[in-house]
Amino acid sequence: MTDTTPDAALRSGTFTTRSPATGEPLTEHPVDGPEQVARAVARARKVQADWAALPAARRRDHLLRWKRALASGLHTVARTISEETGKPVGDAELEVVLTLEHLGWAARHADRVLGRRRVRTGLFTVHQRASLVHRPLGVVGVIGPWNYPCYTPMGSVGYALAAGNAVVLKPSELTPATGVLLAELFDKAVPAYAGLLTTVTGAAATGEALARSGVDKLAFTGSPGTARKVMAVCAETLTPFLAECGGKDAVIVTADADLDDAAAAIVWGALSNAGQTCAGVERVYAVREVHADLCARVVERASALRPGADDDAAYGPMTLPGQISTVERHVTAAVMSGARSLLGGPESVREPYVAPVVLTDVPEDAAAMTEETFGPVVAINAVNDVDEAVARANDSRYALGAAVFCGDRRTGAAIAARLRAGAVSVNSVLGFAAVPALPFGGSQDSGFGRIHGAEGLRAFTSVQSTTVQRFTPPIALTSFEVPAAARERAVRLARSLHLRR
Ligand code: NAD
Repeated sequence: MTDTTPDAALRSGTFTTRSPATGEPLTEHPVDGPEQVARAVARARKVQADWAALPAARRRDHLLRWKRALASGLHTVARTISEETGKPVGDAELEVVLTLEHLGWAARHADRVLGRRRVRTGLFTVHQRASLVHRPLGVVGVIGPWNYPCYTPMGSVGYALAAGNAVVLKPSELTPATGVLLAELFDKAVPAYAGLLTTVTGAAATGEALARSGVDKLAFTGSPGTARKVMAVCAETLTPFLAECGGKDAVIVTADADLDDAAAAIVWGALSNAGQTCAGVERVYAVREVHADLCARVVERASALRPGADDDAAYGPMTLPGQISTVERHVTAAVMSGARSLLGGPESVREPYVAPVVLTDVPEDAAAMTEETFGPVVAINAVNDVDEAVARANDSRYALGAAVFCGDRRTGAAIAARLRAGAVSVNSVLGFAAVPALPFGGSQDSGFGRIHGAEGLRAFTSVQSTTVQRFTPPIALTSFEVPAAARERAVRLARSLHLRR
């Protein structure tokens, strides 16, 4: 009998992706091993030398050409994303639109952020002209996840290219065709630099080969467990590593919040993309006065939504089959430990779909409150006041995104400032993800480092500091020839100045 498991396919030299909705085969891809990965990196390195030597404005123009190619192929890219992930085409289109925004920003701002900048010198260095410049690293390896197969890796790919690097991208084995399409569109739009963005395909072993390939940095997006393994491989060669991992994002709702706005945003943040969003809404802390009212409004909205493959479905199937049992385990354990189910429950899990689940009174130590559920499940717990909400929101080993709903914007921003999350939206959810100038990333199990914004460009550079001596200083302190008396005078002067400042 033929073994048709994904593992068997991944060992056989090629693998076939399948529709998460129907199980139908989609596309076939090579399983790239260390040799193929090394070839891709070597080719990328050759092209990168010329790319880095280009004036920044030429790189910008090339990247904007690629962006226009992506805009013109938007429907094809969205269809590919939708087929591979199962998400509705409309959601996939939104994903491409967000990607275009980020790519355009990275292309247009790279020179301003990274170009040579003069800095002031000090009392004893007035004879120097000091400046710094951010230079590309070389070849950046990018390992991507499947939940946003265009938007997420492009948060590294677009910014790394704009900073003058080449990129070898390993998309998730569930969504390789999206990655391949991005690289094909680049080659077509910018043929003079074909190969600057290359895709290698396969699963963990291909990712590991990329981590071992001598790339100059590895940008990883995925689960914290995998991040630890990839980081350990990178540690062997001191390859710099950036980790964008999972989240357990909390929303705080204050007594004066607009409950309709909050409920609509919570429902979208928790259920869109079947809850498979790193910065999706998983926990809600509402002050007791409004808790019941908020729950009723969330349930009313969520119960009108259902998953499916048809045009009216709000969201699609679970993309990763293995995640379904995690969702089931979290919901079942929560209910067993005393949580009340306001909508759905363990019975909502009907492979490959999970209908919306709204829970309340979930014990804070239940897996549904501590681990990433990554499904269309939201827990809404009551808290006595905002202080308790902040403490509970922060009491997580994840720290990626968060949101605050508050009647007063200023108070909302003050609450946001007390949260440990790397990004916070006030009176919306995921507002930060659509602003390319805002860095994105978390801490602890959510990873480290930032993508997007100026930090996201600098993440793929190394800084070189330069001093150019403009004239010979009257007292050259860094010389064996300076008389002892002159040195003592200089030290006395410095000491008295620092005592006064
Ligand atoms: P995953 O960790 O299973 O896989 C991520 C990538 O790593 C895949 O390409 C996979 O093939 C590769 N990989 C697996 N084992 C490897 C190994 N040993 N060596 C090298 N590469 C290896 O994650 P996933 O299931 O694809 O993605 C879901 C996770 O990603 C969730 O935790 C989600 O929250 C997170 N995520 C985070 C962000 C963010 O920006 N913070 C964005 C999207 C998704």
